[in-house]
Amino acid sequence: MMTVLNAIGEMRAASRGWRARGLRVGLVPTMGALHEGHLSLVRCARKCSDVVVVSLFVNPTQFVAGEDYSIYPRDEGADIALCQREGVDAIFIPDALIMYSADHSVVIVESDVSKGLCGAFRPGHFTGVLTVVAKLFNIVEPSVAIFGQKDAQQVCVIRRMVRDLNIGVEIVDAPIVRESDGLAMSSRNRYLSESERRSALAIFKSLREAESRFRSGMTSADELVAAVRAALVREPGVKPQYIAVVDADNLAPLQNVDRRALCAVAAHVGRTRLIDNMILDPAIRSG
Ligand code: AMP
Repeated sequence: MMTVLNAIGEMRAASRGWRARGLRVGLVPTMGALHEGHLSLVRCARKCSDVVVVSLFVNPTQFVAGEDYSIYPRDEGADIALCQREGVDAIFIPDALIMYSADHSVVIVESDVSKGLCGAFRPGHFTGVLTVVAKLFNIVEPSVAIFGQKDAQQVCVIRRMVRDLNIGVEIVDAPIVRESDGLAMSSRNRYLSESERRSALAIFKSLREAESRFRSGMTSADELVAAVRAALVREPGVKPQYIAVVDADNLAPLQNVDRRALCAVAAHVGRTRLIDNMILDPAIRSG
């Protein structure tokens, strides 16, 4: 039986109860509007823990002014049903008024890996993410938390927080889950019209283009970025915000892909902002 918990105290008490019985608690933080990408994290959590907790919270502090907070898809009933079917043990659905006191005044700021890529275009976003993730860690006290590689910079920023603040939570990342044609799954795909949905596929195709160029010997980051850009301009419905090839571990700029690199794209399709990425790994290039 899955438990639905709304109160912070109840969530913490439940988690402490499990841990007292020697069970390992795995947390999957989400903003709801669940899809197969989220469910893959749940399955991953199941493998590396005994009790799986999904949190469902559209965190207001990670939306920048003018973004889609007020219209972000919310479908609690469907999310609860999906979690139940997936064998989730508990779902934590706090209210924004419970999560943030009216006069809350402490945040977590990361000042290196959060600066580039999405951070450059969404000022304050990663402060909101880190603050809510730290709060969820303090409430749920999990042994392990699972995050999707779809938000590669987010995983990197969270790993940095855990390392630098000595937080005792193991961070596991899970691969990107895609639609059958390759579009990365995202709650925001629900915003796309039929024609936008067709255009959006160009993002995945442009990343695959970079991957295939890389496999056939192109290692210059500038050239790879140019290849992605050239592939994207063929689709007028897609307006790239950034295209980057950076060190996959610390997101630092790279001249040449001589180590694991992250090729990342953010683009607008109509009014919807989508992100996607691929890892370019010299160790498997020749394979
Ligand atoms: P969100 O609800 O969009 O905040 O996402 C919650 C978690 O699900 C984050 O760790 C995301 O990286 C992960 N996630 C979202 N979409 C995907 C996807 N297509 N594949 C894998 N993980 C995903």
